[in-house]
Amino acid sequence: MLDVINVQFGYSKSADFNFSYKFDLNLPVVIHGPSGSGKSTFLNIISGLITPFSGSIKYEGQDFFELSPAERPLSILFQRGNLFDHISCFRNVEIGLNSKIDKEYSKNIIEEIFNHLGISPLLYKFPSEISGGQRKRVALARVIARAKCLSKKLLLLDEPFNGLDIHTKVHCIKILSDLQCNDHCKIIIISHDINDSASLGGIEVNLDDIRGV
Ligand code: ADP
Ligand code: MG
Repeated sequence: MLDVINVQFGYSKSADFNFSYKFDLNLPVVIHGPSGSGKSTFLNIISGLITPFSGSIKYEGQDFFELSPAERPLSILFQRGNLFDHISCFRNVEIGLNSKIDKEYSKNIIEEIFNHLGISPLLYKFPSEISGGQRKRVALARVIARAKCLSKKLLLLDEPFNGLDIHTKVHCIKILSDLQCNDHCKIIIISHDINDSASLGGIEVNLDDIRGV
């Protein structure tokens, strides 16, 4: 359960956003809403990238505002993917993991995830050498690796399927469904595709309901 209670925030001094919602995360949640309505802002607040003016967020009873972003048991895929261009795709995923994890163990997991996502040939390429859809899959690989290696089991995915062809998207949806079912991950996805919640066997939430508009 993710309980967002009267979380107020604005990019200027006025509190333009007021988010309140109880997410029962037994099924994946797909958030819809028009462009510019605050969807990315909302995920960024949960992740800790943005600090709100007031309110509270509790996840399984834990107060998120008492934890630094790194301490929160979550992993986020940003809308723009946010890969570092000067290191390989493999390194981009590896640096999302803790240096205490055995290197051989994490290497095997990363290779397996790249294989599942159909991007094994990209392991040692640089993000600047690959397409937008491939970058999306590398960013998704990072989130999945963090879920598997670090128990970062709350996955926040900001428009993860944009730029993917339909075949790849169906494959990614299957991987996410498996994470929810087999790895006990909780998933919140932002999407503009109204079919995604049905494909994921999830629940649709409109941002208006979260903002109380
Ligand atoms: P969405 O993800 O729903 O498209 P965003 O959360 O990105 O919307 O943005 C919500 C509103 O906040 C928009 O009006 C946008 O222009 C504004 N906004 C987003 N990021 C910033 C920022 N860093 N500084 C100022 N305004 C921002
Ligand atoms: Mg956005």
